[in-house]
Amino acid sequence: MAEDKKMEKLVSLCKRRGFVFPNSEIYGGLANTYDYGPLGVELKNNIKQLWWRFFVQQRDDIVGIDGAILSKAQVFAASGHIENFKDALVECKKCHKRFRPDKLSDATRCPDCGGKFTKQKMFSGMFKTIIGPIEEQGEVTYLRPETAQNIFVDYKNVLQSTNVKIPFGIAQMGKVFRNEITTGNLIFRTLEFEQMEIEYFVNPKDDWNKKFEQWADCMHQFAKLVGLNLKKIHDVEVSEKDRAFYSQRTIDTEYEFPFGQDELWGLAYRGDYDLSNHQKHSGVDLTYFDAQNNERYLPHVIEPTFGVDRILLAILSEAYVEETLESGETRVVLKLKPIIAPYKVAVFPLLANKEKLVEKAREICRELKKSYMVFCDDRGNIGKRYRYQDEIGTPFCVTIDFDTLEKGTVTVRDRDTMKQDVVEVGKIEEYIAGRL
Ligand code: ATP
Repeated sequence: MAEDKKMEKLVSLCKRRGFVFPNSEIYGGLANTYDYGPLGVELKNNIKQLWWRFFVQQRDDIVGIDGAILSKAQVFAASGHIENFKDALVECKKCHKRFRPDKLSDATRCPDCGGKFTKQKMFSGMFKTIIGPIEEQGEVTYLRPETAQNIFVDYKNVLQSTNVKIPFGIAQMGKVFRNEITTGNLIFRTLEFEQMEIEYFVNPKDDWNKKFEQWADCMHQFAKLVGLNLKKIHDVEVSEKDRAFYSQRTIDTEYEFPFGQDELWGLAYRGDYDLSNHQKHSGVDLTYFDAQNNERYLPHVIEPTFGVDRILLAILSEAYVEETLESGETRVVLKLKPIIAPYKVAVFPLLANKEKLVEKAREICRELKKSYMVFCDDRGNIGKRYRYQDEIGTPFCVTIDFDTLEKGTVTVRDRDTMKQDVVEVGKIEEYIAGRL
């Protein structure tokens, strides 16, 4: 399947099956803004939960916070966002669309209408807002463009309220907002999206490069955990001229999306840039006292930063497969890792018009729902139900048939091999747990 066709098919599947919807669609749509549908929200929550478990709950050296989207404008002045979070853009003189010159390749005219461009101008990437009922008297602030700043601003509170010791990290996930020019490709680049970030504080005298390498490795482990193919993942060292001035090393991890290789997530060494700026602007001492070595210093920071929406898009593009069956039919399957799939199991009665089968199916559904996301379906025929579950990536389908009533067994069909196993009703849960 051609990769450009794959993207088209994926976009269509996302809408048809309820992963991603265009925002405000009945009003013509708000550009580059999307809503997650019933399946999308499950997939997204599974990614976030896995991330949180892997990077926070299963480690001894990382704690989490959940900061506000709004902060005092001083936070973003200190972080440099108000002054520097700007994009150089050109505007088409005819249709007034704006573009990033670095994304235009060699085009000297507007790709949409052929109009001429203005000279480059700087546009802020921050969404401004006003606190208070009277606009003219209100306090100006901004929606956060990254989750990182809450972490630096809360760092002292975390130190004082927990038992963390350097090296340690603070993690956060949540919505961020960037008023930037976007280029299509569904949820790859949107105005609001979710980040999952860690600020990992180290002693400036320590070998930060060793920790940096460990983080790069850890991020690959996470990629594997969510089912991404490591062969499609490329760590690109960002050259000194393209790095932020305070960063001594940055890796952009790129993924081979169907529309081309582009950034999936990043890892940066930020030195003490953020803490020293917040210390300066707030006047609050943000140094760390290292009791073991009896020394005081401003920690340095390694920052692994992930975009939830891009991970979700990568997972969907990796999982989307079309198979030709012996019958000549094409089967669309989302080969999602079971751990990430929106529904773990679907349950159906073999025949929708046999009350006893339907009743038994409902009873088994109720039981399985105590442990898993279960899709109960008695629409259409069994073939259609299988096809639907394949398309939404459900790893197991349990069918209730006459043997269920007579012998107490069901058939469990595997999404990928399409093989069916006969399993005792009382052992369905154990069977699924073993396969997950
Ligand atoms: P890009 O170069 O693609 O604009 P960035 O380098 O500005 O990304 P960061 O500021 O490092 O990105 O943000 C961390 C992560 O957040 C990115 O690796 C990406 O996964 C995600 N991300 C950034 N911008 C967007 C966006 N507009 N829409 C969706 N996800 C985004």
